[in-house]
Amino acid sequence: MGQTSVETAPWHSLSVDEVLEKLGSSLRGLSEEEAERRLQAYGPNILEAKRRHPALIFARQFTNALILILVAASVISGFLGELLDAALILAVVFVMGVMGFVQEYRAERALQELRKLASPTAKVIRGGVTKVVEASRLVPGDIVLVEEGDRVPADLRLVLSDNLEVDESSLTGESAPVQKDHEQVLPPETPLGDRANMAFMGTTVVRGRGRGVVVATGPRTLLGGITRAVEEAEEQPTPLEVELEDLGRKVGFVILGISGVVFATTLLVEKTSLLTALLVAIALAVAAVPEGLPAIATGLLAIGARKMAEKKALVRRLAAVEALGSVNVICTDKTGTVTRGEMMVKYLWTTGGEFEFTGEGFRVEGEARPITRDADDRLLEKVGELALAHTAYTIDVAGLESLATRKSPTELAVFVMGVKVVGPGRVGEVKEKYRLVSENPFDRFRKMRSTVHEHNGGLVSVVTGAPEVVLKNSAGILRPSGEEAITPLDVETVMKRIEYYSSQGFRVLSIAYKRLSGEGDDPENGLVFVGLMAIIDPPREGVREAVEEAKRMGVRTVMVTGDHKLTAMAVARMIGLEVGEDNVLEGWQLDRMSDEELARVVDKVSVYARVTPEHKLRIVRALKKRGYRVAMTGDGVNDAPALKEADVGVAMGVRGTDVAKEVSQLVLLDDNYATIVEAIKMGRWIYENLKKPISYLLSCNLGEVSSVFGAELLGLPYILEPVHLLWINVTTDAFPALALGLEPPEPGLYTRPPRPRGARLVTGKKLLYYTLTGVVIAAFAIGLFAQSLSKGLEYARTVAFTTIALSEFGRAMASRSERHSLFRLAWNKWLPPALLASLGLQLIVLYTPLSSLFRVVPLGPVELAVIAFLPSAAIILIDEVRKKVWVYD
Ligand code: ADP
Ligand code: MG
Repeated sequence: MGQTSVETAPWHSLSVDEVLEKLGSSLRGLSEEEAERRLQAYGPNILEAKRRHPALIFARQFTNALILILVAASVISGFLGELLDAALILAVVFVMGVMGFVQEYRAERALQELRKLASPTAKVIRGGVTKVVEASRLVPGDIVLVEEGDRVPADLRLVLSDNLEVDESSLTGESAPVQKDHEQVLPPETPLGDRANMAFMGTTVVRGRGRGVVVATGPRTLLGGITRAVEEAEEQPTPLEVELEDLGRKVGFVILGISGVVFATTLLVEKTSLLTALLVAIALAVAAVPEGLPAIATGLLAIGARKMAEKKALVRRLAAVEALGSVNVICTDKTGTVTRGEMMVKYLWTTGGEFEFTGEGFRVEGEARPITRDADDRLLEKVGELALAHTAYTIDVAGLESLATRKSPTELAVFVMGVKVVGPGRVGEVKEKYRLVSENPFDRFRKMRSTVHEHNGGLVSVVTGAPEVVLKNSAGILRPSGEEAITPLDVETVMKRIEYYSSQGFRVLSIAYKRLSGEGDDPENGLVFVGLMAIIDPPREGVREAVEEAKRMGVRTVMVTGDHKLTAMAVARMIGLEVGEDNVLEGWQLDRMSDEELARVVDKVSVYARVTPEHKLRIVRALKKRGYRVAMTGDGVNDAPALKEADVGVAMGVRGTDVAKEVSQLVLLDDNYATIVEAIKMGRWIYENLKKPISYLLSCNLGEVSSVFGAELLGLPYILEPVHLLWINVTTDAFPALALGLEPPEPGLYTRPPRPRGARLVTGKKLLYYTLTGVVIAAFAIGLFAQSLSKGLEYARTVAFTTIALSEFGRAMASRSERHSLFRLAWNKWLPPALLASLGLQLIVLYTPLSSLFRVVPLGPVELAVIAFLPSAAIILIDEVRKKVWVYD
């Protein structure tokens, strides 16, 4: 199979036939066996996303300025002859590095795993049959189908192009879409951007359809060659991480200031050597900064992302987790998101009477029953044939189940209706009678879809679409007696019928046809109107409850649909949205409004009907202008701008195009509105839980600083060794901090309004309170220290050290909720083991040979009990009182 020629041939300079021959393929594609063989030979069609090497992530942990200061401190200790100290500080630095590494590495892995869940697929022809396969299984020689919204899954030499336009900006940087043409044969030196007969991996189809033979896969593709383009965009720090880093810096500065004072007093008042004073001050500064916070935040966001994925909400960027928590309006599609999308034509109206269909969903079992006396079977037959002609060439009765998720449900419903009328046995016959010539896919601007067929020696188009639009384009109407010119009375009758069906929540579709005079004749104008189809698409289970739940959380739900106003209103009512005439806005009304006028009414509107994707963008902008945090759903290529503009763009995992998924922050694996609400809940929970470790860690840092500073002020000996501080910050405090991040949701979390835009995790008031807690801890530490001085300095330091370490029990309890009494909170199963672990760590330091390293001495059981109990009890008591008198946000 000439492997070398496969890799080097200038494919764009060969004709389609030459390419197919060279690749040993045909327009019917490869056989499954051959494809399997080639897969073995060429390997999977994937580009290994360039990962950051673990060693690199590890090394990065040590670039932190604070850590460098710590290393410097260790070096100074060494010079002072305090070799033990120097080694201990270095060991702690190492532990810190490992912890930061573990968190970051796990977060990175988690995101990668999540991305895999949404592994791309490709439509391929093998052995003459169209199939959907994982894109990774494509091989050279495969014939691939692409259409609007698809990501091109490998390098293709096009063999067919139908209005095909491709966005190649990912390769060339050129943002205007490129028109493709399979018929061209180009000179070998044609530049990349001009290779009109090729489509390259990683580019996206923005219009039309095409077919191509795979000429290169995986690393041999153009994209594979340009490694730079393959690197996953570096994950930007989330706003939250930025805030935390900023906070760390600020706290760091304050502590540096305090350290300066301590340094000066140590040097001047106590007359110690310059280096000793320096060492003490630097170690204090570094030890008192909450180094662990950013790592804990990243870790919690990653855990959150994984939990969301379990609920079918796939987060594409960590930042989305926190953004979700602040969303207060969801703009959702109707069809398939709020509704099941398993459409069935329930009623058919023609001038020859009305029919009702039996059956369920996309199942073809069922039949048409006349429900009006004048019902005439001749028109029914005609509609059945047209419906099949219009849809059957891509749909197969046998494969209906698997198609249900890939094909337009509207088209499937039309197909199924056709089968019910004509009978499953005659589908092939109808297809023969109406040979397909071309297809104009549905789009939301025309709101129509048409197919052109060879029929009885002439050309005929069949059109379905939004009923008013088709009606407007109709010149004639089909009656049992034959075609006639359409009259104003007909128009009125049909319009009434449309309103009647729509107001009951049916999705209404018109069907019409036209005998074309020739190739150039407009297939969508001058139509003969045939009938109306009323399609049921019931709301999904659980959506009503989810809307209700969102409302309790202070999150508005707004429905944005291309469908008829009355249909939209009826469905909106079914899911519990309040709608009256003044909460509904139609596309044409939007067109007449300025952006300012729109912004003035967005507060009230809960249903937008007959809108186009451009309107969606305007709606997002207007809502944002009014201070809303917007989640907006979408699936098509045209939705991309609105998805990008929204605070959280939400793409449909099943129905959505690759383009929509790529620009979104959240992908719904089940396309379900209720999943958005779940994700918002999760986002809130995670954000709220980040506050708990912060409160816990900061109050400890402030306790340490107050102790050292207070002891200095009181003229006491130096109260804590640097290693003591580092030990607490990095080891004993870590487990409870993580456990606090996993607290179950507090009462009321899902019934109060979302946090306002720009809300911060740490406010001045909170900092004040954490300081108060710190001062309480310091009071105990200093008091107990002073009292035990008579038993020796080492003993007294052990007491102070242990007091601060064991205050974690009280700090943890007080940090579990900002507003609710400890006794109202649900059980957190992570907390007891975490507290026990850190107690254990402290006991190891006190009662094993390690004690000599830390220069501590064993404490008696009574003293230990007092130290463990008193400070914590005081902290909890004070906090319970605080919650009664001072609830801050
Ligand atoms: P929705 O918000 O419900 O997804 P769409 O923009 O998809 O609305 O559809 C708007 C209208 O266009 C529908 O009410 C229907 O009449 C018509 N329509 C939708 N999809 C198709 C299709 N595939 N073929 C023909 N007509 C369609
Ligand atoms: Mg739709």
